[in-house]
Amino acid sequence: MCYAIPGKIIAIEGRRVTLEYFGEKREAIHELPALALGDYVYAQGGWVIDRIDPAEAASILEFWREQFFQLQATDLRLSRLSSEKSEIDRHVAVVFDRAIEELPLRDEELLTLLELKSGHELDYLYKVANFLRYKHQGNSCCIHGIIEFSSHCSGSCLYCGISTWNRELPRYRLTREEILEAVREAVEIWGFKALVLQSGEDPDRPIDELAAIITEIRARWPLLIFISCGEVGIPGLQRLFNAGARGLLMRFETSNPELYARIRPGRILENRMEQLRAARDMGYLLITGGLIGIPGQTSRDLLNDILLARSLRPDMYSFGPLIPHPATPLAKAVSPSSAEVRKVLAVCRIADPRESRLVVTTAFETLDETAREQGLTSGANSVMMNVTPDAVRPSYELYPDRAHARESISGQIDVTLNLLGRLGRAPTDLGTRDSRILGSSVPESSTNGIPDQ
Ligand code: SF4
Repeated sequence: MCYAIPGKIIAIEGRRVTLEYFGEKREAIHELPALALGDYVYAQGGWVIDRIDPAEAASILEFWREQFFQLQATDLRLSRLSSEKSEIDRHVAVVFDRAIEELPLRDEELLTLLELKSGHELDYLYKVANFLRYKHQGNSCCIHGIIEFSSHCSGSCLYCGISTWNRELPRYRLTREEILEAVREAVEIWGFKALVLQSGEDPDRPIDELAAIITEIRARWPLLIFISCGEVGIPGLQRLFNAGARGLLMRFETSNPELYARIRPGRILENRMEQLRAARDMGYLLITGGLIGIPGQTSRDLLNDILLARSLRPDMYSFGPLIPHPATPLAKAVSPSSAEVRKVLAVCRIADPRESRLVVTTAFETLDETAREQGLTSGANSVMMNVTPDAVRPSYELYPDRAHARESISGQIDVTLNLLGRLGRAPTDLGTRDSRILGSSVPESSTNGIPDQ
């Protein structure tokens, strides 16, 4: 977003580059023509999105220099692990030791962590996750904006407030011009460099129309675009990738096929997984994960959710709580506690300490107003801001009283930057420290950043 830090290209190998800022090195993929060593760029989610003028880069880096090292020192201090484990069960302490030493944890050990109940043990779990986040991913925190461009959906998911179950909800569909204006504001006024375009499965917005809008956005602004509009099929995914989308936010919600079929009538888990795997192979960055608190879900299911998400090698994990909507069949479901959600985030980080980002979901923020701080100190390193136009934002009612539904964008930015400053996190996202994540992400065909028409 607006305070992102530019990186200098110090190595280029095909479409992969290594960036450096303040001694930190990151890997990213580029699609820009004639990129050269020494160029300054912005990167988001492991993609170089724009080249910037060296004089401008120097001035931004100067602005950041002192702050960055102060933030880093704060994060280091807050991420330190104490050796105090006297109140932790011996068996659990051994699992923590293995996690800290980064020995691969067996499924049963991860399950032990997911089933922790004692306050001391939970506190230590969060600290271990936070320690591993700092060790492998440093203090960078990525911030994506989200534009919800249509609340129409033909789906009947039992947990979803914009499903067909909700007959009272006033629906909206932003026009092409309204979407472009929302993007313009997010990029030109607020400085966002990664946006998620989200909607229900809207039968009246053909994929070609959406593709044309994405192509236009990519032609006008340097931006990493994630799509999140449900299942568009493998040809639809390819069409949107060719148009310029580079990320897909699609959770599978639960790894349990029976539970999946129950909460998503008419759907099959394997179809969703096929699309996620195909998207990965096309070169999409994936944000995926599941829903915590589905009636009938067990801790073994949650473990399997984490393992299934990990098998997709996502760029980012997204696990959030179920918040019942009164107009849906799950109206009487009980949301999980904040501790349950935080525990899943921490175990997710411990199960995959190196490679992926982990987002604090808006649903968690709706459940608990301190969710961002809780999540960011339990292994998470990403947040989303809602940049949907004010006039329609409250109508995207996935669940009641959604966090940020009525907050101004500037207010969201202020609150977020304050929190990140207090926790020592830098709102930058230059790529990944681990080149293995990029190895599988580079699509075969290069588009030189110019989407298909
Ligand atoms: S979860 Fe997605 S597909 Fe299901 S009803 Fe909600 S928006 Fe539609």
